[in-house]
Amino acid sequence: MDARTGTGSPPEVPGILHLDMDAFFASVEVRDDPGLRGLPVVVGGAGARGVVAAASYPARTRGIRSAMPMATARRLAPDLVIVPPRGGHYREISAQVMEILGSVVAEVEQISVDEAFLDVRGARRLFGEPEQIAALLRRTIREELDLPSSVGGSVSRAVAKIASAQAKPDGQLIVPAARTAEFLAPLPVSAVSGIGPKAVAGLERFGVHTIGQIREIPSSALARALGPRAPEIAHLADGSDRTGLGHRVRDKSLGTERTWDEDLTDADEVRRRITVMADDVARQLRRGELVARTVVLKLRSPDGTTITRSSTLDQPTASGERLREHVVALWERERHRLRRIRLAGVRATHLEPEASTPYQHELTARSGQWRDLEAAMDRAVDRFGTTSLSRGSTLSGAPGTAQRTDAPSPSEHDRP
Ligand SMILES: [Mg+2]
Repeated sequence: MDARTGTGSPPEVPGILHLDMDAFFASVEVRDDPGLRGLPVVVGGAGARGVVAAASYPARTRGIRSAMPMATARRLAPDLVIVPPRGGHYREISAQVMEILGSVVAEVEQISVDEAFLDVRGARRLFGEPEQIAALLRRTIREELDLPSSVGGSVSRAVAKIASAQAKPDGQLIVPAARTAEFLAPLPVSAVSGIGPKAVAGLERFGVHTIGQIREIPSSALARALGPRAPEIAHLADGSDRTGLGHRVRDKSLGTERTWDEDLTDADEVRRRITVMADDVARQLRRGELVARTVVLKLRSPDGTTITRSSTLDQPTASGERLREHVVALWERERHRLRRIRLAGVRATHLEPEASTPYQHELTARSGQWRDLEAAMDRAVDRFGTTSLSRGSTLSGAPGTAQRTDAPSPSEHDRP
C-alpha cells in the first residue's frame, strides 16, 4: 500500500519504457572516427542508386532523412560524408546495448537492432522510479559505449514509443498515466507507429490532423478511416491503452501450404509453385505491416518423408524477391532427396512490426525497386484478384518451355 496517498489507490506507474539509440549507424561511425564529429554524415550506399540508411543530426538539420535517395542527400549537403554500412559491427554493438539493458531490467523485448521495450515495474525496488531507471540506462550506455540514446515512458508501449521520438536526441520523456491523452492531443496522427500515409489521408478526410481530434469524430467515421485498427487507435487517443510487452505481434509466423492430388515430379514445376507461395507469404506480411527474419520451406513426398529447412535472412523483410531467393536456394539444396512431391509449404517466422525496424528502408535501390514494384502489385491484386497478375518469371517456368525460370534480376549478371 502506498502511504503517500491517504485515499484511493496509488498513482499508476508509467513503467513501460521504449529505448531507442539516436541515429544509431551514423552515431557508431562518428564514435569510431571522431574526425566526423559535427559533419553531415550518412550511412548508406554511395552509388548512383544508393539510399540513406541513417543520418547524423548535423545531416538532419540540412533536411536529410533515412530512406532518402543518396543523390538527393548529396544535393542538400554537397559536403556530405557517406560511410558504407557495417552490418556486423552494428549487430555487435547492438548486443552490447541489449546486455546493458538486461543487466538492469529483467523484462526486455528487443524489437530491432537499436530499439527495445522494457517493463521496469519490477525493477523499481532496486533502481527507483521509471525516470531514474531511464536516466541510469542512458548514462550507462553513454559511459560504456560512448553512444547517445533516448527513452520514452508511459503506461502503454505505443505511447512510450511516441514519447521517445519526442525526447530525441539524447533525451528522455516519461508521461504520467493521468496526462497521457493531454500529451498525445497536439501531436500529428502520423506520430503513431503504424499510421502510414494512407491512414493519414483517410483521417484528413474527416478533418482529423492531430491525435486529439481522433476523439472528436464518431467511431463509425474512425472505422471508415482506419479499418480494423480503429478501436486500438481510439484507446490510444483517449489514454486508455495499456498494451505492454510482447503484444504487438500476436502471430509468430504466417505461411501457406498445399497438398496436390498428383505428385509433382518436375523440378521446374516445384520451383515455380514454391516461388508463387513465397510471393503469397510476402503479400501476407505486407498486408500485416510485418517483416520476417526467417523463411521456412517444407516438402513432403508421397511416402510421408518430410523435409523442413529454414534460412535466416540478413535483414528482416517483406519482399517477395528476397523470400523466393531463399526458398529456391533451399529447394536447390534439398531437391535430390525427394523425387516426388506431394505437399509443399512456405512459412515466414520471427516476425516483427515493419515500422519498428530500421531495415524497413533497405540499403540498396535494387531492393527499393522491388519494394515499389511489389507495393504496386499488392494494389493491383487487391483490385483485380490474384489470377490476373503474375510475374513474367513465374509464367516462364511452365513445364514444357525451354525458358530459364530464375527470377529476373535488374542489376545482377548471370554467374558461371
Ligand atoms: Mg533508433
